[in-house]
Amino acid sequence: MSSQPDIATIVQRVRDEVASRIGEGRVADYIPALAHVPIDRFGIAVRTSCGQSAHAGDAEEPFSIQSISKVFTLTLALQARGEALWRRVGKEPSGDPFNSLLQLEHECGVPRNPLINAGALVVADCLVSDYEKPLDALLSKVRSLAGKRIAFDTAVAHSELATADRNASMAHLMKSFGNLENSVDAVLDAYCHQCSLSMNCCELAAALGYLADCGSHSPVASAESTQGTGATPRATQIVDAARARRINALMLTCGTYDRAGEFAYEVGLPAKSGVGGGIVAVIPGRGTVAVWSPGLGESGNSVVGVEALKRFVALTGWSVF
Ligand code: GLU
Repeated sequence: MSSQPDIATIVQRVRDEVASRIGEGRVADYIPALAHVPIDRFGIAVRTSCGQSAHAGDAEEPFSIQSISKVFTLTLALQARGEALWRRVGKEPSGDPFNSLLQLEHECGVPRNPLINAGALVVADCLVSDYEKPLDALLSKVRSLAGKRIAFDTAVAHSELATADRNASMAHLMKSFGNLENSVDAVLDAYCHQCSLSMNCCELAAALGYLADCGSHSPVASAESTQGTGATPRATQIVDAARARRINALMLTCGTYDRAGEFAYEVGLPAKSGVGGGIVAVIPGRGTVAVWSPGLGESGNSVVGVEALKRFVALTGWSVF
């Protein structure tokens, strides 16, 4: 395979190859507002570091990004707290389900990593402490990366808040160990809103481009970003190269629930999945690929999304291994 595969052909081919499997898995009905998302959707979008982009299927249809938001909040919390964040949350894969309480009790309220729910609650707690308006800060960061259309889906946020007993249990347990600075209610509100961010595959592939490009974000040239001048939009450094590498390491080892080992074996890319059926994968130095299909497997990863990423890697040869 050449080092510059034809991305447009590849995304179409991936879509064709997974077409017969679209509809497999189960939608995340434990969040009532997600129970009725049509299971027959599939989208894929790719954005390369040299400015190519391509998409296929339902790549422009917004969906609930859920846990993919944990990458954005981690980025913000690292900006605010630096390495001190790691005193409150670990960097190890959990090997347990994303919403498990077991390890948290054994490990004195310090979550294994920031990409499982308990860890993301600690990260949300930091944002509540460090930003006067944490949700505004998150939204403006994501909009600056991927476009002004992006918004919270408040129906999803309220639906999750109304059924957040498990996340509330984790938050209370961590609070009892002294690992939450704010009230459980304030943290849950921030967390459920971040999970409700509504984005599509094209936006997600654009938003996480900084992780592929040593922390540097290059906006898509558009009338909006160039204010109609036609000039090439300027790149912004979101995190430094070392931090981008480290976020990628966490995504590789912890980003796909308790299937991270199998995902690394089969796909071999840093990635983060969400129970809305989205997965974003980073190909360091080359670009990003986002897939969406709402049917989930046992561990909470999109069945067809994982299959599509396997095929994408097979067709491009793009993997970190
Ligand atoms: N909001 C979901 C929860 O806390 C996120 C789960 C996920 O996407 O992994 O259960």
